[in-house]
Amino acid sequence: MRAPVIATIGLGANLGDARQTVRDAIQAIAAFEHCQLHAASALYCSAPVDSSGPDYFNAVLQIATRLTAPDLLRRLHALERGAGRERPYRNAPRTLDLDILLYGDGNIDSDTLTIPHPRMRQRAFVLRPLADIAPALVSSEDLRAVADQTITRDTGPTGALA
Ligand code: ADP
Ligand code: MG
Repeated sequence: MRAPVIATIGLGANLGDARQTVRDAIQAIAAFEHCQLHAASALYCSAPVDSSGPDYFNAVLQIATRLTAPDLLRRLHALERGAGRERPYRNAPRTLDLDILLYGDGNIDSDTLTIPHPRMRQRAFVLRPLADIAPALVSSEDLRAVADQTITRDTGPTGALA
């Protein structure tokens, strides 16, 4: 049996009931076989970066997993499809986007998978929630570099912090 690896996953959604979709996806990933939830950030709201449409709901989570990175990606894509994800054009608004940000300290560069995720350090919606759950992975320089991007903690439908 493979030793478990900590995989870091970024979640984003800006179509449909995006807040609920992200919450449901966190639960669904935690229930993947050969995976255990290690940490989940709070939900954040962010203005679209390189994309369009309504604001996004975002979160980052970490799982301890015995799945290979390609197997994990396949399961994440199945979840995206279950949430009605379509890809009409690059960076289109989406019901659910699930990216593998890190897979342990692994480096992968294949046709379908690049890890670490090449754009993660340019995105406040990745770095801010990641800093909450894994501060050692985010430097203050990283955070300063994305300080101009609008992102807030989700206050939830009732105004209470989620
Ligand atoms: P994006 O997340 O960049 O907006 P998509 O979700 O449509 O775009 O993903 C496009 C492709 O990116 C996927 O089919 C997947 O094979 C590939 N990909 C490469 N590296 C990763 C990664 N680290 N996590 C998720 N998808 C990745
Ligand atoms: Mg994606």
